[in-house]
Amino acid sequence: MPTITIYEALRRASSFLENASREPKVAEILLLHELGLTKASLISSLRDSMTQEAFSAYMDKIKQHATTGIPVQHLTGVEQFYGRDFTVNEHVLIPRPETEELIVAICETVRRKNRTDLTICDVGTGSGIIAITLAHELAEWKPRILATDLSPEALIVAKQNGRNHQAKIEFYQGDFLSPLMEKGEKIDLLVSNPPYIDPTEKKLMSDTVKNFDPDLALFAPNHGLAAYEAIIQQAKFVLNKDAILAFEIGYQQGMAVSDIIKTKFQHAKVNVLQDINGKDRMVMAELIG
Ligand code: GLN
Repeated sequence: MPTITIYEALRRASSFLENASREPKVAEILLLHELGLTKASLISSLRDSMTQEAFSAYMDKIKQHATTGIPVQHLTGVEQFYGRDFTVNEHVLIPRPETEELIVAICETVRRKNRTDLTICDVGTGSGIIAITLAHELAEWKPRILATDLSPEALIVAKQNGRNHQAKIEFYQGDFLSPLMEKGEKIDLLVSNPPYIDPTEKKLMSDTVKNFDPDLALFAPNHGLAAYEAIIQQAKFVLNKDAILAFEIGYQQGMAVSDIIKTKFQHAKVNVLQDINGKDRMVMAELIG
């Protein structure tokens, strides 16, 4: 049976993507997944060969990505977040590195306040990355963790990820905080990476994002602020005193989201934090009294 070296396969896939004006790096990510290799083992296997059959299957996926823009994470079914692998599909937002910074900010705040017995809720949990990562990173503080999502299909993915990572999360289906309001639950830390892009911006976005991430995860009316407005309005009914709010935001929404919080909670200490690129990316608020 004819074979091709792994090196040659990688070269061909990368140039195919480059010629199609796609990110050549996708060739490596997909090859690692197809061959079940780590980056280190790939480098030491470059002279090994793969069968023509395996190469064609690999190139079919490369071509599919090149022609449709399907994200590599939908082809592999996984994305890494905060050092862990999460299952993803078309029903959930693919985890973004910016959201890892939200985890850092929350962990710092909880450590600083040294708060045990916290009840946390991840609103719009999607694949469950925030809730599950916090369950592990804050394990010492023994939080109780709730997570909500409007989409039943997203919750299937989130629950699967919860099981894979042995995180004990209470999942609820419903609009933002409404399931908690219905049950009379109270929380100490509200975290959310809600949809924050105005729908009019859709036309400017790359096909990989706008045609594959769910609209529900991306878009919110009123300059992308509608979800913050709804969540913060509902928060009035579920937050304990001295609660913490942690939001990921669009880089131009720092002032607007801070104002929404300050309007609803007069005694709030609100901070806008920047991401690694120096852009406003998070709003953290601590309620006082
Ligand atoms: N909480 C999930 C994440 O941060 C989903 C967010 C969303 O769908 N907007 O990836």
